[in-house]
Amino acid sequence: MTLRSTLKDKKRIVVKVGTSSLTHPKTGLVDLIKMERLVRELTDLHNQGKEVILVTSGAIAVGRKTIGMKDRPSELAVKQACASIGQARLMMMYQKLFMEYNQIASQILMTKNTLVNEGNRENARNTFETLLSMGAIPIVNENDTISTYEIQFGDNDTLSAVVSALVQADLLILLSDIDGLFTDDPNRNPDAKFIEYVNQVDEHFERMAKGASSDVGTGGMSTKINAARLATSAGADMIIANGADMGVIHQVMDGERIGTLFRANRTDDFYLIDYLDAPRI
Ligand code: GLU
Repeated sequence: MTLRSTLKDKKRIVVKVGTSSLTHPKTGLVDLIKMERLVRELTDLHNQGKEVILVTSGAIAVGRKTIGMKDRPSELAVKQACASIGQARLMMMYQKLFMEYNQIASQILMTKNTLVNEGNRENARNTFETLLSMGAIPIVNENDTISTYEIQFGDNDTLSAVVSALVQADLLILLSDIDGLFTDDPNRNPDAKFIEYVNQVDEHFERMAKGASSDVGTGGMSTKINAARLATSAGADMIIANGADMGVIHQVMDGERIGTLFRANRTDDFYLIDYLDAPRI
């Protein structure tokens, strides 16, 4: 049996979607067709009896478009205000679409503080467990409106791996604007080779990822490799695939050879906080 063919049996699945996979490249406005397809794919996974969590970006981008701001904000308070406007709108769109399929959805906004303290972590885990047992699809984002440098994850690749570790997910699917991991940046180097399978995330891959970046959103390839290290060490398989077509989700689940697959390598002494650049409390 190949590892790919085992993906269909995964029970608890986290899907991460980046801003670039949710918006039209020309206008930066939400691509409703893609969002609708994403919601349909996730609801269908849920209908198959799986537990599904969505980690979504887009709060700042949607907020900025709502007020007609041309460039990405750099000032913290402006970013936070955009996120406040955008997160509510983003959720409104998700809720509307999930409602069409009679699927319960909920919102969880996190910062590092949600996790550093053992009690807080346990509390967050219980909330996820309870929502999943209620049949909800939790929709997670960083709490960008209040998070500042000291308490932020910074990118949703990391956040999705953290969530996978927290809930002990079986599979993390990272949807990005590139097909997966390459030996070099394929936009700059025509000889860059696609890597279909990673048995273990080691320094070799970390070095490689530094050369290959995805420019849109906050998560380059380097953050994806770090996310892979975290998620696989916590015991989840992980896939990086291109979110240009949301149908990729069921193709991955069907075991098709799409994207880069990272094999789970649970380490016995895995401790989430060690990966967060935060003190043990
Ligand atoms: N949390 C940010 C947002 O919703 C996105 C972070 C990321 O793209 O990694 O705008």
